Amino acid sequence: MTRYQCIRREFMKYEAVIGLEVHAQMLTHSKIFCGCSTSFGSKPNSQTCPVCLGMPGVLPVLNKKVVEFAMRTALATHCTISPLNRFARKNYFYPDLPKGYQISQYELPLAEHGHIDIQVDGVEKRIRLTRIHLEEDAGKNLHEGIEDASYIDLNRTGVPLMEIVSEPDIRSSEEAVAYLKKLRNILVYLEVNDGNLEEGSFRCDANVSIRPVGQEKFGTRTELKNINSFRFIQKAIDYEIKRQEMVLEEGGRIIQETRLWDTQKGITVSMRSKESAHDYRYFPEPDLVPVKIHSDWVEEIQKTLPELPDAKKERFIKDYQIPPYDASVLTQNKKIAFYFEECASLYHRPKAISNWIMGDLLNEEEIPISPRQLTGMIELIDKGVISGKIAKTVFEEMLRTKKDARTIVEEKGLLQVSDDEAILSFVDQVLNANPESVEQYRSGKERLLGFFVGQVMKISSGKANPGKVNELLLKRLKNP
Ligand SMILES: [Zn+2]
Repeated sequence: MTRYQCIRREFMKYEAVIGLEVHAQMLTHSKIFCGCSTSFGSKPNSQTCPVCLGMPGVLPVLNKKVVEFAMRTALATHCTISPLNRFARKNYFYPDLPKGYQISQYELPLAEHGHIDIQVDGVEKRIRLTRIHLEEDAGKNLHEGIEDASYIDLNRTGVPLMEIVSEPDIRSSEEAVAYLKKLRNILVYLEVNDGNLEEGSFRCDANVSIRPVGQEKFGTRTELKNINSFRFIQKAIDYEIKRQEMVLEEGGRIIQETRLWDTQKGITVSMRSKESAHDYRYFPEPDLVPVKIHSDWVEEIQKTLPELPDAKKERFIKDYQIPPYDASVLTQNKKIAFYFEECASLYHRPKAISNWIMGDLLNEEEIPISPRQLTGMIELIDKGVISGKIAKTVFEEMLRTKKDARTIVEEKGLLQVSDDEAILSFVDQVLNANPESVEQYRSGKERLLGFFVGQVMKISSGKANPGKVNELLLKRLKNP
């Protein structure tokens, strides 16, 4: 065995070290340093003014709401809010940044040292947050459909962003996605961000490195930029871990660089080698005074925080006696959680409600039926008006037509048949049609009961009351 092969054997096992930086656009109506609108999808450059265009001689004025939104986030993620924080200029030249610098925070961020708890495969894990700071967004270069030129849309310049930076506590792509989903969920509950990855209002960069298991020191990291779906984030991280393993296994060395995820090819590609912090020549922003945050203000914000996903989950388990799994699924989306609670206030069967929501409504963009309609249908099942099987049809019809369950049942003649005589006639039809099976049943093959039940349900188009069917079948089979 060559020396190379020995080394290969020894270093086969690597561990990934991942830290995430999330840029979350805050749901304010106006920009961070001026009164321009932040709404998405408007005509290019229609939402700009001398301040966000970075004209000489203008002065930025900080939007108080932006600070409040970041404070809400900081408190919800157990961060410490700095009583004094300050803006800095991050200097770099880019076409979509006319000022030549971005106003951000550097050595005195708004908040630090928080954490978010995640669960992967039933195992709880704490991911620490390094910091939360405020900054302004840059503009956007437009190339599509334009020949021999680049246009610039500056509607986004000055849109308020929160950068939420995690410690490198994440060890796999699954943990990364669990963390991001949890964070997004919290931001949406707080109403500080709309959680929209496609429109770029929740963007993530991942710093990924690997090291031999047992080694303390971090490996060289690469940065994956701006990936716009949870699925791609997971794939990009997995690919990057594999790529780095291959490079090291072949005796190569990882270069610190920024890489992009190529959606088409399913690989990461090098974009540029990484600037280090001093390349940006950060210095305190002279046009903005430092932000002082008094403890009274923090307390005031604390009082306005809503019930957050973890607390809601615990309460659902306790108040509604539903399994922890249901509670965690139902609270992963604020809209679903509220919907469930409204249903549960209308009807006393939370587990049945949870089943229907988790089975059919979870992935709906807008829930198409009202809580009263859903619980109305469950009540019809419980009262024996429709069978569970027919309920599926009624439910689909309800989604399609938005009519109440009872109306659909009446219009389509789907009432459950519980009348003895009617069911007996179905039973007799089935028994007469299958004399051999009846003979076998009577000589001890009792498993055939299921077959008879199935046949009766079939000829009754699923409308026969299954309890009655069983009862009457047994009666006929035992006393011919
Ligand atoms: Zn403006």
